[in-house]
Amino acid sequence: MLVPNRMLSRLETEWISGVLILVVSLAATWAFAPDLCQFVFQCGCTHLWAGGMSHCNTHMANAKHCPWCNAGEGGYALLFLGIALPQAWLSFRPRSWMWPLRLVAALLAFPVLGVMEAVALGLISGHWR
Ligand SMILES: [Zn+2]
Repeated sequence: MLVPNRMLSRLETEWISGVLILVVSLAATWAFAPDLCQFVFQCGCTHLWAGGMSHCNTHMANAKHCPWCNAGEGGYALLFLGIALPQAWLSFRPRSWMWPLRLVAALLAFPVLGVMEAVALGLISGHWR
């Protein structure tokens, strides 16, 4: 039941803003993941709305395959969790941070952690050798 004159408690507004920040930052991570591997590996991936991973060099027999797209479902899940878990923490945890700061931090976690993961993956897999 709606109580029109009741102010939302601080806990309720933090919870609502945390959920919204998490949803927005996870959606951005999911939407721009192909742009990230194109940025690091020049693999042919493009915006999700322009074909996504369908143009990746993993579909070409004689190309040096993109390690990000070649990680398999388990590897991809680990890469995603390595970004999503810090995003979840940033969405809810820093209680002294106002919601705009938590939103910016959660959004920035994707390019910062994603590039770090991709570079580590490229080095481990010997992609640039
Ligand atoms: Zn790729």
